[in-house]
Amino acid sequence: MSTIGFVGLGNMGFPMASRLAEAGHRLIVEDRDQGAVQRFQDQHPGSRTAIDVKAWQDADIIITMLPSSDIVEAVLSGGVAAAASLNTLFIDMSSSEPIRSRNLGQRLEQQGMRYLDAPVSGGVRGAQNGQLAIMVGGNWQDLDQAKDIFDVLGKSVIHVGKAGSGHAAKALNNLVSAASVAATVEALRVGERFGIDPATMTEVLNASSGRSNTSENKVAQFMLSGTFGSGFPIGLMTKDIKIATALADSLGVEAPFSHDCETIWQSVLDAGHGADDHTRMYEHLATPTPAFNDERQIHA
Ligand code: NAD
Repeated sequence: MSTIGFVGLGNMGFPMASRLAEAGHRLIVEDRDQGAVQRFQDQHPGSRTAIDVKAWQDADIIITMLPSSDIVEAVLSGGVAAAASLNTLFIDMSSSEPIRSRNLGQRLEQQGMRYLDAPVSGGVRGAQNGQLAIMVGGNWQDLDQAKDIFDVLGKSVIHVGKAGSGHAAKALNNLVSAASVAATVEALRVGERFGIDPATMTEVLNASSGRSNTSENKVAQFMLSGTFGSGFPIGLMTKDIKIATALADSLGVEAPFSHDCETIWQSVLDAGHGADDHTRMYEHLATPTPAFNDERQIHA
């Protein structure tokens, strides 16, 4: 069993760190929200906090599960990396920026440490159930060391390529997911205006070629139910789309559809809805619905 430092006990990090503690690993946890740290310690009395930065030197592996590259880099340069022992394996499981991750990996290696990027997909439910998909950038030997940990957290572990590749794959996955949410919501709205009940339209999608994770696991569960409780906000989804479009731009790949997708999500973010659950796009992308029986509204 390993001693694992875990920074970021939010919607995802808390259940992930909990699973690791329950699997018998020794946890050292940290979050700027001391309430989250306290809750974690109450639930896992064997865990430690990193009140003293020297605590990080006991960790074999340090995992970050934080909102962005800015915050990951600030936390590491804010004392964690300096306090860690030589050869510590850093694993950034956040959805971070791939080029910055590649550079961060190189900097850590120059300091005698090791680095993997290992972002996840599967949401809060996947984190709670150990059913995440984990996409890994970095070298095979480091992945081997982390494999026991990944097996506690996820159902599939995919080695994508060099450092940063996991973060690139994650952003591209979420670009596809965001496009699917927007397209599905628009289809439901058009159908509704034509008089097709959204639940019926969802049934059609799920039985047909338009089905997706959105139609199967989000529409009925979070949108039509009105709970909007997936645990993944519009702000984080928009961040991921922008990572994907920035990557396309920096590589000189034209991606007009992806930029259109970014514009749609960014406009909802700019309207002040960043903290809303991303399934609330069902409300935010809604346009006023004229009466179905007004034939002038139907352009045949
Ligand atoms: P979250 O906002 O719920 O949690 C982030 C945690 O980081 C919070 O507890 C916050 O207090 C802590 N934090 C922020 N700044 C800090 C700092 N400087 N020092 C210490 N702690 C700090 O976010 P989340 O939903 O858990 O997502 C974490 C990462 O995982 C993000 O990169 C997100 O894009 C990605 N992700 C989220 C989901 C999801 O469904 N929520 C799914 C896959 C991936």
